Amino acid sequence: MTTQAVDSIETTRDEARSWLRAHWDPELTVQQWWAVLADSGWGFPTWPKEWFGRDLDPVLSGAVREAFADVGALGPPSSLGQMLGGPTLLTHASEEVKARFLPALARGEEFWCQFFSEPGSGSDLASAQTKAVADGDLFIVNGQKVWTSGAQWADRGMLVARTDTEVPKHRGLTYFVIDVDQPGVDVRPIHQMNDAHGFNEVFFTDAEVAADRVVGEVNDGWAVAVTTLAFERFMSAFGASPGKKAGLLERRAGDVVSGAVRGPREGAAYGSDLAAMITDIARTRGLADDPVARQGIVDLYIQQELGRISGLRSAASVRLGRRPSGDGSVRKLARSDLMRSARELGEAVLGPYGTLRSVEEELGGGSIQQIALSSPSSSIAGGTDEIQHNIIGERVLGLPKEPQIDREIPFRELKVGTQRTTP
Ligand SMILES: Cc1cc2nc3c(=O)[nH]c(=O)nc-3n(C[C@H](O)[C@H](O)[C@H](O)COP(=O)(O)OP(=O)(O)OC[C@H]3O[C@@H](n4cnc5c(N)ncnc54)[C@H](O)[C@@H]3O)c2cc1C
Repeated sequence: MTTQAVDSIETTRDEARSWLRAHWDPELTVQQWWAVLADSGWGFPTWPKEWFGRDLDPVLSGAVREAFADVGALGPPSSLGQMLGGPTLLTHASEEVKARFLPALARGEEFWCQFFSEPGSGSDLASAQTKAVADGDLFIVNGQKVWTSGAQWADRGMLVARTDTEVPKHRGLTYFVIDVDQPGVDVRPIHQMNDAHGFNEVFFTDAEVAADRVVGEVNDGWAVAVTTLAFERFMSAFGASPGKKAGLLERRAGDVVSGAVRGPREGAAYGSDLAAMITDIARTRGLADDPVARQGIVDLYIQQELGRISGLRSAASVRLGRRPSGDGSVRKLARSDLMRSARELGEAVLGPYGTLRSVEEELGGGSIQQIALSSPSSSIAGGTDEIQHNIIGERVLGLPKEPQIDREIPFRELKVGTQRTTP
């Protein structure tokens, strides 16, 4: 990184810190605080100035996060709407669509979810079967989505639906912003082995979405979905859950921020410093001098540092106008590996305590057990490890593309999803 880049990181951190010191007020409600943040542009600093941002280079957003942590201020609203929806709208949506949706996202008044995956199409998202049929000023939606994170709290969803079955699969999809609270949308919980209810299956039965809620063009939704997926590879949550259903808007901002800092089951006290957490557990368990534990901790620390440094490097490349091809995939794979390593090492260091659901703070307070039960999800969510390998193979290493015999065949002739069994 150039000296100039380091300088601007420090300048940005200082600027954000002094703004936060002057304006952070723990007595405000979360909703009031987020409205102040939205007006200032510090909540989403990489968004354009005219849309609640500060036109900041992505490389500098880490410095802004650090400023929030330094001051102890509550971070911006954070749902898939803010992390993926906002940036996708900024890339593809008309000014009208931006004006309709961005204010509520920036102020945290809405929680959005992502209606992409279906029982028959996850990695192969382009084979989605959920249909949206034009009917005057509306589209009528029928079908099923699955693994929809946060649909139980969502006001709206980013929906990829099929609007033309006569053309090949990538050409007949449309991207909508659909209201969740309507009679035709049935959100059913999926309960997970980590005891959480993070995601849902969602059924659409004659649900309605207005034609002016299309993002991009009708039948050009694939390009929009690819943008969302690209942002997903880089996303990391920060702040708290927006929207009425998540229940934080009326709470005192100071209470929400201190809860977020202390949440023991997420290991939040250590932030993303897994090596530090496991080092403390090893000390408590009398393993600080154990050569195998020490070796494991150093390996984990190196992995963690490489992840952090490659994050900085890719942010710096973005600043110089170069987004390395496959960069998000490399980092996503490294993150999956890190979670697996933390799981193996953490459980080894915990020994028999690793089988208990809840243990003392000195033993991580249950964070390792939570990582152990949640780690498989990092290799699946936002595109599986195998899909990331394919992307790296094709875009970085220049290997031949995966054969795609169905690319030019009309969607209705493909044997995908329930079409497999339909004569
Ligand atoms: C925690 C979590 C949160 C999620 N949240 C959401 C959400 O909010 N919204 C949403 O829409 N979805 C969400 N998902 C779903 C996720 O996007 C899909 O699970 C993922 O894309 C994989 O799709 P699939 O489960 O259908 O598996 P499949 O695509 O059926 O894959 C099955 C196996 O085949 C492999 N495979 C598939 N295709 C290839 C290929 N071409 N080459 C090599 N191997 C291949 C895969 O790697 C995998 O091992 C979430 C998933 C998780 C775990």
